Amino acid sequence: TNTQLRRYRIASVPGDGIGPEVIAAGLEVLEVLAARNGTFVLDVDHYDWSSERYRKTGAFMPDNALSLLKEADAIYFGAVGAPDVPDHITLWGLRLPICQRLDQYANIRPTRIFPGVKSPLRGVEEGDLDWLIVRENSEGEYSGHGGRAHVGLPEEVATETSIFTRSGVERIMRFAFGEARKRPRKLLTVVTKSNAQRHGLVLWDEIAAEVAKDFPDVTWDKELVDAMTFRMVAKPKSIDTVVATNLHADILSDLAAALAGSLGIAPTGNIDPERRFPSMFEPIHGSAFDITGKGIANPVGSFWTASLMLEHLGETVAAKILISAVEQVCAAGILTPDLGGRATTADVTRAVCEALRGSN
Ligand code: ATP
Ligand code: MG
Repeated sequence: TNTQLRRYRIASVPGDGIGPEVIAAGLEVLEVLAARNGTFVLDVDHYDWSSERYRKTGAFMPDNALSLLKEADAIYFGAVGAPDVPDHITLWGLRLPICQRLDQYANIRPTRIFPGVKSPLRGVEEGDLDWLIVRENSEGEYSGHGGRAHVGLPEEVATETSIFTRSGVERIMRFAFGEARKRPRKLLTVVTKSNAQRHGLVLWDEIAAEVAKDFPDVTWDKELVDAMTFRMVAKPKSIDTVVATNLHADILSDLAAALAGSLGIAPTGNIDPERRFPSMFEPIHGSAFDITGKGIANPVGSFWTASLMLEHLGETVAAKILISAVEQVCAAGILTPDLGGRATTADVTRAVCEALRGSN
């Protein structure tokens, strides 16, 4: 027949804390969505890589973790981190090796205000804030180069060297212009601090101007990162797509999440745009042990994450259907306590599944 069923293999890594709760909810919704659409199926591999595993075995992941992940079409990730494991051990034990070895050099973070969610910005409502922040995810300030000399002595010196390469900057710039082009406003802001960081970030400015020539339909401007934080608060409507370095975008993304009103709703994607390797999708929130096991974690972040993952897999229609169902549920006031509601994780999940079954 001409209606061939598309199959995707998903590596699910729920992790710690509320990670397993929201990922289970996300997988449930994905299953309903796939059944409803009837055009694709997801084969899910479950991996229990977590702080728990680290405590038991001394490693977050098995030795063959990367080759297991390479079998997948996408990675659906929850959250990792536990109060008794230092953050840098977690980061270097799990997420960074995955991002680096799978060369997920573009990190994307969509931000917008969902129905039923209030921005802390006065007068800013749904539709006023709709951004895509693109973060360079492989080099720059987080290259790990540097060191310490004369440790503990008065003359101690520590260096932390940012490394920017022409190929590294060019590939993220091309990706960002491409993403801006896909969005209705075709508007890109290139963020740097090239007045003070006069080597690497001047290179960013130069490459932005070069790449822009290949995207004449994209309107672009430049902003210094300090001015950008001001603009995000004072003139959110003037922003659409943003590209920034590893460190700068890290900071801008957190500000963006706060301005959108909740940590519990936004997703992020660690993308290999060349698709040599699977990309990894996760809610932006952490493991949130304070609410773990209470059944009140907001699953919207993992639903939006699932939608972003489907979009990356090419299932654009299904991705849109999922987001509409979530919006419908939020607009109906079925919200978890972090958004001021009284619904549980299960209530929201059930409502989204019902909305999916009912939509056409
Ligand atoms: P990590 O160390 O992994 O970053 P964390 O304990 O710092 O985890 P975060 O996930 O960063 O916690 O979130 C901070 C707070 O926001 C949590 O304490 C939690 O109350 C709240 N929060 C985060 N995500 C959610 C969610 N999905 N639903 C409800 N509340 C959330
Ligand atoms: Mg945290």
